[in-house]
Formats: sequence, C-alpha cells, structure tokens
Amino acid sequence: MNTGSYVNGQWYQPSGKEIGRNINPADISDVIAEFPYASAVDVGKAIEAAQAAFPAWRKTPGPERGRVIWRAAEIARRRADEIARTLTREEGKILKEAKGEVMKGISLLEYYAGEGFRLHGKTLPSEARDTFTYTVRQPLGVVGLIAPWNFPWAIPVWKSAPALVAGNTVIFKPSELTPATAALMTEIYQEAGMPAGVFNMLVGNGPEVGAAMVNAKELRAISFTGSNEVGAALYVKCAERGAKVTCEMGGKNAVIVMADADLDKAALAIHGGAFGSTGQRCTATSRVIVHPDVKQALLDRLVEGAKKIKIGAGLDESTDMGPVVDNQQWQTVLKYIEIGEQEGGKLILGGKRPEQLTQGYFIEPTIFDNVVPAMRIFKEEIFGPVLSVATAKNLDEALRYANGVEYGLTTSIFTENIDTIMKFVDEVETGMVHVNEATIGGEAQLPFGGIKSTGVGDREMAEEGLNFFTELKTVFINYSGKAERSMTR
Ligand code: NAD
Repeated sequence: MNTGSYVNGQWYQPSGKEIGRNINPADISDVIAEFPYASAVDVGKAIEAAQAAFPAWRKTPGPERGRVIWRAAEIARRRADEIARTLTREEGKILKEAKGEVMKGISLLEYYAGEGFRLHGKTLPSEARDTFTYTVRQPLGVVGLIAPWNFPWAIPVWKSAPALVAGNTVIFKPSELTPATAALMTEIYQEAGMPAGVFNMLVGNGPEVGAAMVNAKELRAISFTGSNEVGAALYVKCAERGAKVTCEMGGKNAVIVMADADLDKAALAIHGGAFGSTGQRCTATSRVIVHPDVKQALLDRLVEGAKKIKIGAGLDESTDMGPVVDNQQWQTVLKYIEIGEQEGGKLILGGKRPEQLTQGYFIEPTIFDNVVPAMRIFKEEIFGPVLSVATAKNLDEALRYANGVEYGLTTSIFTENIDTIMKFVDEVETGMVHVNEATIGGEAQLPFGGIKSTGVGDREMAEEGLNFFTELKTVFINYSGKAERSMTR
C-alpha cells in the first residue's frame, strides 16, 4: 500500500511537516502506517494537474470514461478482501460489514460506469417554428471531494465515480483517520487506467488541506460528507465564491414502533440499526419511539439481543461489534452516556468499556429507557452504540417526537396498518423513509441523503448524484433560414 499522496499520476511524499499515524482502534499498539500530510502547497499542485488533465478528459467519450470506472470495479472485486481487511483494521467495523461496504462500492462503480452511456439532456418542443431546443449536461471542471471516516470506501466511491464519469477531474481528500483505504482506492483507479491528473488524492488534515480546497476558486464544486460543524461553515464559504456544493451531514434517526408491530422483526431491525457498525453510520438508529402498551415487550427483546453481541476486534470473524473509531469519538460517546444519566434517562444496559477489552476504543451496546424529547440524548447525534427509548401514545405524537429534531436523514416505522404507513410516509421529515425495516441502507440507483440540517444541495448516488457534477446547457438552434428578430422569448 502506498502511504503518500497521489498527484498527476504519481505517488509522492508530500512536503507538509505533519505526519499522521494510522492506528487500529481495536488495538492501539497496532500502527498500520504513517502518512506524511499534504499542505496547501500540494493542493495548488493538484489543482494544476487536474486543470491540465481536464480538456482531454472532458473530450473523452462518456462510454470510454465509463469503461475506466468499470475496470476499477473489476479490480476492486479482485482486491475486495484486501480492501475489507484494511478498512476493518483502520476504521474498526467488523469484517462482515467491511465486506458489505466493499461490495456496495463495487455496485456503485458498476452503476456509474453504465451512466457513461446515458449522460443525457432533454429535447423539448420550442414555441418558435423551425427551432430545435434541447439541453446537454457538461462537466463542471475540477471538483473537490471531502470525505468522512465512517464509510471510507463507499463514500469516496459514490462521490468520485459520478464526478469522473461526467467528465470532471477530481481532487479527493479522505479523512485523516482512514487514509489506507483511500490509498487502495487510488491504486485501483491508477491500475484501471485513469489518465494522469484526472484523479488526485491528498492525505492531510481538514483545517489545512480541506480548507485550501474549499477556498480554491478553481474548484467548481465541493462534495462534502461529514459533521454539521464543518459542513455548515464550508457551505457558506462555497456560496461566497459561487461554487456548487453538496453537504451530507449528521443524523438522529428514529424507529417508531406501533402497538400492532411485529416486535421480533422490530427488535432485530433496531439492533442492526443501533449497534451495527458500532452505531457509527449516519443512518444509525439512535432513537426508538414506541407505544406504551408494547414498550416492555420490546425492551425485553432489545436487551436480550444486545446481551448476546460479542464485542471485539473486527478482524476476528466471530465478533459482532467492533470499537468506535478513535479516542475522541470514544470520549464523546462516554460523555453522552454520562449526560443521559444526569438528564434522568434510565440506563438499562451497557454504558462503559467492557472490562477485558482495554487495548481499544470499545463501548458496550448501551440502552436508555425513560428518555423524553427534551433530553440531549434524544436530540443530538452521538455516533456510537447508544439507543434511547421514548414512548408516544399515538402516531401524531410519535411523528411530533420523530420530527422534533434538527436532523432529517432517515426514519422507520413498524406497523401492519396501511393507513398508518401512508400517513407516516407523508408526514415524516426525513430524506429517506423505511417501513418494517431498519433505518440503514442505500442502493446505487436510489437517491441518498437528508433534509433539514442533515443535507444541503443535491442528493448523492443515483442520477441525482451524477447531475450534481454537471452543468446544464440549454441550446436553441434556428433552422428556419430566415433572418428574424425574436421578440417572443
Ligand atoms: P468531520 O466533519 O470531522 O470530517 C469530515 C471531513 O472534513 C474530513 O475529511 C475532515 O478532514 C474534513 N475537514 C475537517 N475540517 C475541515 C475544514 N475546516 N475544511 C474542510 N474540510 C475539513 O466528520 P467525520 O467525523 O469524519 O464524520 C462523521 C460525521 O459524518 C457524522 O456527523 C456523520 O453523521 C456524518 N456522515 C453523514 C453522512 C450522510 O450521508 N448524511 C454519511 C456519513 C457520515
């Protein structure tokens, strides 16, 4: 694996003074590699390379660009095990989840490879005679991609593949916590035959490399996924200089369980959502809003299931839940558990590091009962294996609680009643909605993203994710052969 940055088709060791130590969160004595950080100077070099590569890549036919992406999918399939193991070692999620993420990324590569054949506009009738009117989609130029650590393979793929197939050249900055998976992705694009300068990757920290990208007027768009704190500030900066921007940020996702729900199904889905990926998915289930009549029966199932979760290093295939990503995240989650107790939440399971696991950032699956909507653990993103359970006596109240937070990424309901389902789908304030399944999941062909404070700009994945990386041009061709002065348009 390469440990440098990649600019203009070359791996190199950047000149910045800082060096990032990439550490396994399941065993902090395991240093995966040291990555010298790029600086703002490297951002300048990457911009030059990407600008130089743009004209030829723009003129490369879409299907041909798509074939490079397709080859990347084939190489990724061959190297899937290596990617998954690297991802688990640096991010912490269990190997099964890492393999799932790798496969999701491969589907995204395949999907966007095909989009190279379908980069279409529309033909529409003109109001004028003998005039042909249509739209074409064209690339923006050089674009910047800034990614978080929690899906270090799938998110960079779902940003880079549409950007590249649309004909843009790219500067990609992975999270400081997951540069190894990013290096593998870059190697794969290199091996797939991506021309020099078309895809560039800089390992570096947010306040320097990320900020230099955001401020670079040459970058026509920024696609960001990460925290609200960083995303909101970045959005303003991009708006000031007129760059396109999409920000996918935090979530506080709820599962509503109605009195008629199948509680076994609900409990299993809540487990997957709350404790899968150690609760570090933007779509993780962190709240349950349950009818009082079935609360105890649901809690019994949740506690029984959570007690069976085997915590440990993700590379051990018998493990069900890995550590959180780093010390900072570990401290944050423990702090929220303390806050929950101070606020009057009733801790019914977990709440601390398992005694025998002192080498990594492990936290037990944690469940709070008696949570009310005013509590911080009900409203704020925790990003760890902590589930808050509240009650609501009917759908209106459940919706009010579910919607009463600043985030709007995903929500789920468990019920057998079609009227309840339809009203829920209509009134819930999230970009993604699930019925009788977990809050998690996304598919290449389906738009992904949230509303309210979770997301601004276009949705990611699907056709919408591709459209973000294009500019629309409207064309009027007058073939009347007459000299005329149009006053009607
Ligand atoms: P983060 O905001 O700390 O970092 C995200 C990226 O931004 C990193 O690459 C970081 O280096 C960079 N960055 C930091 N400061 C910057 C600056 N000043 N200018 C430019 N870039 C800067 O987020 P994180 O901790 O890596 O990720 C976790 C967050 O991501 C959670 O809030 C989670 O909900 C969110 N997330 C959202 C989605 C979604 O689709 N809605 C998906 C995954 C993760």
